[in-house]
Amino acid sequence: MRAPIILENVTKTYGNKKALLNVSITVKEKKITGLLGPNGSGKTTMIKIILGIIRKDTGKVLLRGTDPFKDPRAREHVGYIPERPELPNSMPVREVLITAARIYGSTSPKDTVDEAISLAGLSGNEWKRFKELSAGLKQRAAIAHALISNPDILIADEPTSNLDPIERVRILDLLVDLNRKENLTLLFTGHVLAEVSRIAEDIIVLRNGKLLFQGSPRNLMDIASIVAIRANDLVRLSKLLEEQGFKTRYTPFSLTVYLSGREEIPRLMKVLGILAGRHGIDIYSIDTVEASLEEMLRRE
Ligand code: ADP
Ligand code: MG
Repeated sequence: MRAPIILENVTKTYGNKKALLNVSITVKEKKITGLLGPNGSGKTTMIKIILGIIRKDTGKVLLRGTDPFKDPRAREHVGYIPERPELPNSMPVREVLITAARIYGSTSPKDTVDEAISLAGLSGNEWKRFKELSAGLKQRAAIAHALISNPDILIADEPTSNLDPIERVRILDLLVDLNRKENLTLLFTGHVLAEVSRIAEDIIVLRNGKLLFQGSPRNLMDIASIVAIRANDLVRLSKLLEEQGFKTRYTPFSLTVYLSGREEIPRLMKVLGILAGRHGIDIYSIDTVEASLEEMLRRE
């Protein structure tokens, strides 16, 4: 069966800014795909192109086999949670959702809405106005809104931004639940490696509009290993490691070494052993770190 979302060699420029450059990806049916990249890497642009909200310059975009920009019907049953969700404040959220259900042609809008409220974990807060909700509940209201069309594809742009750490975990767990219970294909974006790799089965990494990686979280960890070393003379150790071809960055308390893969770790250990003995450097600790993507992408 054909993948529900396919991009082939997609390029998008805003003026002379290249937001996406020759990007090809596929989003697998019923899986959780995480789109990872620092701010400005092109995530929202990609999401909007997939939804047919904006037009690509060149390349091919298929949403369920159809060009979403040319044929808006491709977007039916695709739920979208935008980066900064907003719902009308003129009436309680439940009323907003009922209006949406009527627009979608639901035969029993109240049942549709009650189910969406329950699935999104909004029960008990549905009679409040959107502006009265906390950030986490606003996100839930937006999720409930996205569920009204009874989607089989759910697309969430930075669903955890602006949330506190506990709420971030809860919202991601809720999305995982929806993926499992409702059999949804889930595509979401984020800029924190640990967060995206916790729930994604497939990860797409963008940097400066270019596709850096698509594959399993495990394989992503393998291509990008970072090691933090504590020692008595970090400045000197940094210089010595650079001479051995390692890329390092010195921070006040530790030395970060960027490796191109896990397979480089044994060589690093060997070199450290030799350098420590030869130059009298005391090494206190060596840790592999799961750094933020920003950290990881700082590599050339
Ligand atoms: P992300 O969602 O990963 O933060 P975006 O897709 O929003 O990235 O943006 C990618 C790049 O395109 C950024 O450099 C951004 O400034 C630029 N960009 C996005 N939207 C517009 C726009 N409407 N006009 C001009 N530049 C834009
Ligand atoms: Mg964005």
